[in-house]
Amino acid sequence: MTYDFDLFVIGAGSGGVRAARFAAGYGARVAVAESRYLGGTCVNVGCVPKKLLVYGAHFADDFEQAQGFGWSVGEAKFDWPTLITNKNREIERLNGIYRNLLVNSGVTLLEGHARIVDDHSVELDGKRYSAKHILIATGGWPHIPEVPGHEHAIGSNEVFFLQQLPKRVLVIGGGYIAVEFASIFNGLGSHTSLLYRGDLFLRGFDNAVRNHLQEELTKHGVDLQFNSDIARIDKQADGSLLATLKDGRKLEADCIFYATGRRPMLDNLGLENTHVELDERGYIKVDAKYQSSTPSILAIGDVIGRVQLTPVALAEGMAVARRLFKPEEYRTVDYQTIPTAVFSLPNIGTVGLSEEQAREEGYRVQVFESRFRPMKLTLTESQERTLMKLVVDADTDRVLGCHMVGPEAGEIVQGLAIALKAGATKQIFDETIGVHPTAAEEFVTMRTPVSS
Ligand code: NDP
Repeated sequence: MTYDFDLFVIGAGSGGVRAARFAAGYGARVAVAESRYLGGTCVNVGCVPKKLLVYGAHFADDFEQAQGFGWSVGEAKFDWPTLITNKNREIERLNGIYRNLLVNSGVTLLEGHARIVDDHSVELDGKRYSAKHILIATGGWPHIPEVPGHEHAIGSNEVFFLQQLPKRVLVIGGGYIAVEFASIFNGLGSHTSLLYRGDLFLRGFDNAVRNHLQEELTKHGVDLQFNSDIARIDKQADGSLLATLKDGRKLEADCIFYATGRRPMLDNLGLENTHVELDERGYIKVDAKYQSSTPSILAIGDVIGRVQLTPVALAEGMAVARRLFKPEEYRTVDYQTIPTAVFSLPNIGTVGLSEEQAREEGYRVQVFESRFRPMKLTLTESQERTLMKLVVDADTDRVLGCHMVGPEAGEIVQGLAIALKAGATKQIFDETIGVHPTAAEEFVTMRTPVSS
């Protein structure tokens, strides 16, 4: 049978675009459908604009610290609309780059909502297209719990387009987005409270990292309220919001921002016309080759709910394109040592196992830790401290995990990820010459275990 396309990709986000471009590069006839914006969550309402806002927020510390180096700066003023306008311009530029990347690689770009009608067909704007393979890369969507009054709150789709910087913000959640936006709002001058339902935020991260960031955010002025959750939200006569907490306390705010996880984006996708199955959490169930229960339909990225990170979606997209159209170059995705950063202020950078995970997995663990005041801050009033931690397998000497809270942790952990992927031992770390004077050199100079 002949099809209109070899591959029909639904969703032009990180994973979809990567799969489409690579497949087209291997000679496949490829279409991509996108109903919203090119580049998906990461480019439009995720990683990219978030990082720009984090840079913006860090200037608050920079201006203050500059004084220790002899600079006198006048009263620093911040203008939110300028930051948002400039951010929007940059995102539009990136949307254009994505468009060119797709078109120049020979992909047919179809702008509209695609709906699967059978195992090999997709409908878009009343037109039907047939394809040998259909790849679902529709990503995720913010999940906001349905507490009474939740319509007065915003999620991460709206936060990037606020008209004004709110004076008082409640950030709800204790994951990546909550912690990053608490730092952004706090740095830009909002009175910021973070409410998390559990004892300590960032569940799954190393406990030392979680505790250290708690201390640093508190020093920076973020009001952290753990074991706290909202029961209802009311809009008051003056336009402000009143949050009633489950313990009866009431908090006023100008903005309530939910960062309570994301759900897979499957709305009106037509899955009922297929035999595609979902897992118990509602994500598309795929096998090791990203194939769903319907063999012609594949899925990658946030919609399969494995690791919701852009570089992982890119790797999955590449794996699909190679397996289908360049099998001699096919390699599976290694989910073992995925480095990640939380762009809070200060940053978290982490790769490998936390101390708790390593113990749970039965390793005899040695822990090396260093806490210090970054050199750049020694001439300033800032009391911020950096944490670095290595988790080592005492039996084989292999480094199982590297964790950092401090400036540029995200940059530093990328190199460490290569070492861990190569199976580096603590001895190799010790024999590596440091770069002096840097914070990163601490990772190769920690000699005495703090616990084992
Ligand atoms: P996360 O899954 O990281 O965190 C969700 C948080 O919300 C958790 O603290 C969770 O608590 C809490 N929560 C969930 N449901 C409720 C509820 N009903 N009421 C109150 N609290 C609730 O999600 P995010 O939204 O922060 O981010 C989504 C994903 O996007 C991340 O997992 C990450 O993969 C990716 N991301 C990556 C970034 C990066 O690489 N820097 C940046 C931003 C996002 P509990 O822990 O108790 O379950």
